[in-house]
Amino acid sequence: MSQAAASPSPLPPPLAQTACGGTLSDPTGYPSATYKGQTVYFCLRACRVLFERDPDRFMAGLIPHPVEDTPEP
Ligand SMILES: [Zn+2]
Repeated sequence: MSQAAASPSPLPPPLAQTACGGTLSDPTGYPSATYKGQTVYFCLRACRVLFERDPDRFMAGLIPHPVEDTPEP
């Protein structure tokens, strides 16, 4: 007897890698930027601000990401 696949396991949603070292299951609404042709995401707007100041060092993990977000200007 062959068993029909009653519940085909759906593929998990792709995880977006953040520049901060984490992953987001749904990056919608998170700040993003383009680095070397790739879209990178940030957990906070403050992270993107630091990234934009020095993208290479931020992506190299040399700049710790801030704990608190910055308020809207
Ligand atoms: Zn961050």
